Amino acid sequence: RAKRERTGWAAFDPRVDEDASARLGMVNDLRAAIEEGELTVAYQPVVDLETATATGAEALVRWSPAHRGPQSPASFVPLAEQSGLIAGLTDFVLRSAAGQAAAWEGSGRRMPVAVNLSGAVLADPGYPAQLTRTLRELRVAPSLLKVEVTETTLVNESAVSALRRVNAMGIRVAVDDFGTGYSSLGRLKQLPVQTLKIDRSFVTGLPADRRDIAIVRSIVALADELGMNVIAEGVETEEVARLLWDLGVRRGQGYLFARPMPAVAFEAWHDRWLRG
Ligand code: C2E
Ligand code: CA
Ligand code: CA
Ligand code: CA
Repeated sequence: RAKRERTGWAAFDPRVDEDASARLGMVNDLRAAIEEGELTVAYQPVVDLETATATGAEALVRWSPAHRGPQSPASFVPLAEQSGLIAGLTDFVLRSAAGQAAAWEGSGRRMPVAVNLSGAVLADPGYPAQLTRTLRELRVAPSLLKVEVTETTLVNESAVSALRRVNAMGIRVAVDDFGTGYSSLGRLKQLPVQTLKIDRSFVTGLPADRRDIAIVRSIVALADELGMNVIAEGVETEEVARLLWDLGVRRGQGYLFARPMPAVAFEAWHDRWLRG
């Protein structure tokens, strides 16, 4: 609408209508996919950099509509946030992840599963209570779940107070893409956060980029001072994994170890050493 008011011409530009109707089509398909249970969840291991074994997993939503092919969450998650669908999407991912964590615990693969929480979800003051009810209903211990939020979310007071209640339930909290936002360091110590996930953009430049080395080193030092854990995202090579270890990072996530995959494939990956 802003475009139309600015130019006066845009209202007659057929491309604008095409964009708007393509978008509406996507939103309608996504709504139907959520309602009909057509989304899936992929799991990527978080590994101990010394042993390359899983210490946890991150749940990542997947959507592959038959007539469109696989869609990137980097585009349909924001669309869900803008169109009031994020609560339903998150509920689906959370139920899948919690159920999976409980199933893995039952089969001797105990590890927490992390779910990404949009700021829009935490902005609902009823969310912590809803989360409690869901975990009770599924009979899943809060310690089997983690949540990941971005720095942008942590700027919002009501989101922080919701997060504090979630944390108080026994669900650990990680800051996603750490280093890319503007969270003030002084404020970080007051937040209900246990883990900093170093954004991939600081990891892919390793080992050559001295600035990235400095950034990783600072984040590790900060986490140590604050008593927090660190996870490096986007670990793609052995060389990077080794350098991260030397810089004091103990856990990582990335294609070097495994891509996000369906639960069954995750189990095969997890158990790979057992099958001689
Ligand atoms: P994120 O939370 O930072 O998730 C990590 C992304 O990095 C994932 O992309 C993952 O597949 C990718 N990745 C992991 N290891 C590597 C690596 O070694 N190299 C590279 N190049 N990439 C790697 P994905 O699954 O496409 O998700 C993109 C973003 O969409 C996520 O970024 C997250 O912000 C959002 N997202 C995904 N699932 C959900 C969800 O269920 N809820 C919400 N709110 N957001 C989600
Ligand atoms: Ca994440
Ligand atoms: Ca991330
Ligand atoms: Ca990211």
